[in-house]
Amino acid sequence: MDLLKSCELCPRKCGVNRLEGEKGVCGIGGKPVVSSAFPHFGEERCLVGSGGSGTVFFTGCNLKCVYCQNYEISHLMAGEEMEIDDLMRVIESLENLGVENINLVTPTHQIAFIMAGFEKAGRPEIPVVYNCGGYENPEVLKLLKDYVDIYMPDFKYGFDEIALRYSKVERYTEYALESLREMVKQKPQPILKGKVLVEGVLVRHLILPNNVESSLKVLELLKPFKDSILLNVMNQYRPMYRAPEYPEIDRRLSVKEYTYILESALDLGFNVIN
Ligand code: SF4
Repeated sequence: MDLLKSCELCPRKCGVNRLEGEKGVCGIGGKPVVSSAFPHFGEERCLVGSGGSGTVFFTGCNLKCVYCQNYEISHLMAGEEMEIDDLMRVIESLENLGVENINLVTPTHQIAFIMAGFEKAGRPEIPVVYNCGGYENPEVLKLLKDYVDIYMPDFKYGFDEIALRYSKVERYTEYALESLREMVKQKPQPILKGKVLVEGVLVRHLILPNNVESSLKVLELLKPFKDSILLNVMNQYRPMYRAPEYPEIDRRLSVKEYTYILESALDLGFNVIN
């Protein structure tokens, strides 16, 4: 929890004292805020298995994506503030439902609470998934070594100027790559039990309309990691939240754009899953 005294949990490094109630860009202070928790059957098949993925949706976000697909939670801050013990009870109740894993959705800015809870109550016996936006502080990731089994970062952009335009962050590619390097160092190979992933790194890339160049650049940046990671090339973009203010992304993805990126990923030899 000391990490919250001068917060550098993510690369924004706001330096605010969240334990005193100060808030940085993510909008979360000194207590966990959770929007919902339930067995999710819409995640990647290797996470869903038969019991579903035990998702915990954390409120707020360190990214400010103008097209956010979960903007009620991330931007409009829908959620309930709770104590760390309550958060652990939420996680325990998911485990008792027989989910395949605990899937921490957008945990980056709340990870100090999760670590403190696991330290006190013990970590779940099932795999823990760190399902994040990819804009991570690698020094913080090093602390997660014993708490996280599956890293599931987004790799959103191939170019920093696009990251700045759509997510209001600087040096995205540098931090995303450095973070991925640390994740792969910790989990060098995907490990499956039957058809269910129990350890590894699964990278998600949501293709944006009119952004084929950026997606191709993402594949180029990911190429050195291709033998260590699973890759999900996602086509479910919807023009939500403030997307209409950015005309080029104010439409659904075309089949042609999706097929082109998917085939490029396969041609490069990625282990593509969905
Ligand atoms: S986690 Fe929040 S307060 Fe901390 S550095 Fe990131 S945006 Fe700022």
